[in-house]
Amino acid sequence: MGYILTVRCEDCGNAEEFYIGQGMKDWDKNVVLTNFTDNRVRKALDKAESWSFRWKIGVCDDCKKFLRVPVLDIFDKEKKELTDATCQCGRQITSVLDDSDEYKNLQLACPKCGGVMKAHTTGFWD
Ligand SMILES: [Zn+2]
Ligand SMILES: [Zn+2]
Repeated sequence: MGYILTVRCEDCGNAEEFYIGQGMKDWDKNVVLTNFTDNRVRKALDKAESWSFRWKIGVCDDCKKFLRVPVLDIFDKEKKELTDATCQCGRQITSVLDDSDEYKNLQLACPKCGGVMKAHTTGFWD
């Protein structure tokens, strides 16, 4: 099951919702493949014996916007975390936030006012 994370700025009220984690179909290789256009990632998934897929939050290094990014973890001999996402500004996303604690301690700078944005789990999806 995935969860819905609402990230809200405590200063200006700017809020965004993200559907992250894993949905029911995110174990199906053919469904997961549709989330990636990068052939390097598609090939890695095709060859992988042990993998998992989840949606995470990425941050654009240029405009500091957050976006939901597809993340593929490969657990074969060589462990890899692969992602393939581009921000609206055209920049490739390379910073993916660690969701080990469901982002409980997440604090992000608000792209609108520079205030502090905090994350709360506000629901579930599958
Ligand atoms: Zn950007
Ligand atoms: Zn703000």
